[in-house]
Amino acid sequence: HAGQGLLRFITCGSVDDGKSTLLGRLLYDAGMVPDDQLAALARDSRRLHADAGDALDFALLTDGLDAEREQGITIDVAYRYFHTARRSFIVADCPGHEQYTRNMATGASNAELAVVLVDARKGLLPQTRRHTYICSLLGIRQVVLAVNKMDLVDCDERVYREIAEAYRALAQTLGIAKVDCLPVIAPGGDNVGTRSTRLSWYQGPTLLELLDAADATPARAADFRMPVQWVNRPDQSFRGYAGTICGGRVAKGDEVVVQPGVQRARIARIVIADGDLDSAGEGQAVTLCLDRELDASRGDVIADALRPAPVADQFACHVVWLGDSALLPNRTYWLKIGTRTVNARVMSIKHKVDVNTQARLAARHLSLNEVGYCTVGLDEAIAFEPYATNHTLGGFILIDRQTNATVACGMLDFALKRSANVH
Ligand code: GDP
Repeated sequence: HAGQGLLRFITCGSVDDGKSTLLGRLLYDAGMVPDDQLAALARDSRRLHADAGDALDFALLTDGLDAEREQGITIDVAYRYFHTARRSFIVADCPGHEQYTRNMATGASNAELAVVLVDARKGLLPQTRRHTYICSLLGIRQVVLAVNKMDLVDCDERVYREIAEAYRALAQTLGIAKVDCLPVIAPGGDNVGTRSTRLSWYQGPTLLELLDAADATPARAADFRMPVQWVNRPDQSFRGYAGTICGGRVAKGDEVVVQPGVQRARIARIVIADGDLDSAGEGQAVTLCLDRELDASRGDVIADALRPAPVADQFACHVVWLGDSALLPNRTYWLKIGTRTVNARVMSIKHKVDVNTQARLAARHLSLNEVGYCTVGLDEAIAFEPYATNHTLGGFILIDRQTNATVACGMLDFALKRSANVH
């Protein structure tokens, strides 16, 4: 499945807009439902919808999650894998109603594209705006708007056009650079995997074609960065630093710096399970051996020595509050960023963002699912990047030190104060 490479996307919509059905249909149209599963689907569909003849209920392919939630098994986001002849996909399926912002923030953080669903009968809802805002906050710059349930508005082109135009205007105000719109009927697969005869006035690509053709190259800075996951030292003769490259490329002989410190070395070897590489790039998990002994450990960042990451201990950032109890400024949390964990305090909440209107409001605390613009202080300096240029070194989570629960995710904007510990 070479061609276009992997595309990660997320589906967003309000309850009952048809997310499960659309995703099930997408898996079916991509040929990902094996015969035995299809037979089970036909049997369950007949049992559940005695009046619907042989129609398949595609939502049953993806609805398993709801059952798990009812049993009290906490699954925030399910990642599903599928592929077409041209590329492979990982789709983050975010169930949950009240917890939707929390789940969406988790699912969107490494997605390149969002499929936003709208019910043609309802048009744009406050949720549509909220979901799109969270997508843009998390760095998603491409959206496919699927106007679903077109059969319930008599396949009327005017209804579709009005929704599509209103959405394009909305997306523009939120900084989404690329929007594709299409009308669909999820259960019938109309414009999902094949063109619709009922919607013949629509001449554009199907959903699968749009996903096949979507651009998956992140528009990020290309400087080499690798957070150290662990130090691999099986015996005295070998010491390597294992991790996943989160920016740029590295080649044998390159000079690197171990941050937040200033020690430099050259890359002696780039090792993977199959042997040695001459160079490696973003997304690859590698073990780097350096040409001299130095003191690097989990949480450090190995970076291009000529273009190192900035180092700081105070930041302005967006925080999406995910905790059941409110964010309390000046309380200490653990902050996890890349592979590093440090003590952190939210020093102040500059403002809260109304996720439905994007209005800035004064706030003393943040409650569940609220977004704030905050200043955060750490008890030690870290190497970082603004979230806009590097999601791994600019995206963080906050963990409650008593309960171990993840209570926030955040996006670093810029450093307020550079640490003294800079070269
Ligand atoms: P979700 O809550 O967003 O996952 O929505 P579901 O996929 O469970 O769909 C909600 C209901 O809408 C189900 O009864 C679906 O069969 C129905 N539905 C979904 N898409 C369409 C559509 O395009 N046309 C019609 N008529 N019904 C649809």
